[in-house]
Amino acid sequence: MNVYRAEYIWIDGTEPTKKLRSKTKIVPSGEEPPIWGFDGSSTQQATGDRSDCVLQPVFVCPDPIRRGDDKLVLCEVMLVSGDPHPTNTRRACAETAKRYADFDMWFGIEQEYTFFKGARPLGFPDSGGFPAPQGGYYCGVGADEVFGRDVVEAHLDACLRAGLKISGINAEVMPGQWEFQVGPLNPPEIGDQLWLARWLLYRVGEPFGVSATLYPKPVRGDWNGAGAHTNFSTKQMRADYDAIMPAIEALEAKHDLHIANYGFGIEERLTGLHETASYREFSYGVSHRGASVRIPWQVAKDRKGYLEDRRPNANMDPYVVTRLITDTVCGAASGAKGKSREMAAAAAGD
Ligand code: ADP
Ligand code: MN
Ligand code: MN
Ligand code: MN
Repeated sequence: MNVYRAEYIWIDGTEPTKKLRSKTKIVPSGEEPPIWGFDGSSTQQATGDRSDCVLQPVFVCPDPIRRGDDKLVLCEVMLVSGDPHPTNTRRACAETAKRYADFDMWFGIEQEYTFFKGARPLGFPDSGGFPAPQGGYYCGVGADEVFGRDVVEAHLDACLRAGLKISGINAEVMPGQWEFQVGPLNPPEIGDQLWLARWLLYRVGEPFGVSATLYPKPVRGDWNGAGAHTNFSTKQMRADYDAIMPAIEALEAKHDLHIANYGFGIEERLTGLHETASYREFSYGVSHRGASVRIPWQVAKDRKGYLEDRRPNANMDPYVVTRLITDTVCGAASGAKGKSREMAAAAAGD
């Protein structure tokens, strides 16, 4: 073949939670995927009279579904003027990451999700009613406890073949609920890979007739919601425990701002039950799965490492969440460094 298929993937303007879209371009072999366009009036990104939006490729990897020379092409959405589209959250994330590049921020995101078949989560009886209560499903095995493993395995396979940095998978607490982890990676790449892994999840589910959803609270009542725990570290945190507490304090000071940007419906999920802390109040603790931010026990023991922000919803935008955490944590650390430099200067009589 002297051409390849490039699947252009982008994030749309659906409110309150954006969706993924994609379409195929045939590209001559040996050529990079070029800038392309789409009808923004069909994706909540433009009006019909000025419908053209621009697709700017930013991350290209092998297409693990079509295989061969075919590619997946993740794009930023741009206006015809060349400016980023208002729905483009990647640009600001990349700018923030660049501003704080010295901190070498790493993110590892745990993406939880729920399979649905028709109107009910996979594993919930079609006839109505509920499966046995939670308790045996997390990391379970056996046809009575685990629902959708074929899809999960096919998704993991696809992610690895695409070259994505997946670090693990597990069955979750509610039947039909699963998790995969991406990272650690710098922003905005962590966002690129998470969005692509989400696209692959939806795509891989198609032939199984199973849809994956990122609803934060798919079933009301005594069933766990779905989050996207966001683990992060600066270079300083990875070297020294003294950098851990200031990061927690910085997050505490901006709690409301973070909650407001951690995914639609967060109040329904962060109730204080089901391994969450209430969205109303910031808390932290070693090994504490009922806290907003958890210090993993290994980190407390090693006296260095990373933190887990447990607040983000499954349906969060990783470009927004990693931009905010970077801004909050690195901004506070730069401020503190500036202040201690001033104090040292004052002490030296400058
Ligand atoms: P949990 O015990 O909360 O279920 P997981 O094993 O599911 O934890 O996820 C841990 C995540 O933390 C992984 O995505 C991993 O990449 C990430 N991680 C590990 N070390 C670091 C680090 N130093 N900085 C940022 N993320 C990290
Ligand atoms: Mn996990
Ligand atoms: Mn989990
Ligand atoms: Mn976790």
